[in-house]
Amino acid sequence: MAAKIRILCPHCGKAENIQAVGAVCPACKQPLDTNEEGNIYIYRQGSPYGIAGGFGIYLNNQPYGYIGNKELLRIPLKYGTYNIHCAVGMSRKCRDMVVVLSPENPVAFTKVYIKPGFWTNSFVVEPVDPNKLHL
Ligand SMILES: [Zn+2]
Repeated sequence: MAAKIRILCPHCGKAENIQAVGAVCPACKQPLDTNEEGNIYIYRQGSPYGIAGGFGIYLNNQPYGYIGNKELLRIPLKYGTYNIHCAVGMSRKCRDMVVVLSPENPVAFTKVYIKPGFWTNSFVVEPVDPNKLHL
C-alpha cells in the first residue's frame, strides 16, 4: 500500500500531501525543509460503520488534515513524543495513542478505527503490525 506523505506547513499552517520529502508546500509554494528524523504511519481501517468524509488527525493538538477510508498516511517528524488523536465534527471521543520517535525507534505504525458504542461511537488509535500494511 502506498503511503501518502502528509506535512503541516510551518509557513501557512496548512496540512498537505506532498510527493516527496524536500518538496515545496502545495498551498503557499514555500520550501518545507521537512525534517524526517522519524515517521508516524497512520492507517484508517475500513469499517462498516460508515462515516462519510475524513477523520480529522491531530498530533499534539495540531490539526494534520484528514484521513480517508482505507488511506495510509506517512507523517515525517522530528524525534519526540506525539499524542495521536482523531475527531470528526463534534465527535471528539477518542482513545488517543502516544508514540515516542527516537533514534532507536524512529518509526511508529498506527491505525485508527471506529468503535461503535451504545450512545456514541468513539475512535480508537492503536499500534498496527507493519506487515499488514504491505508497504
Ligand atoms: Zn504552506
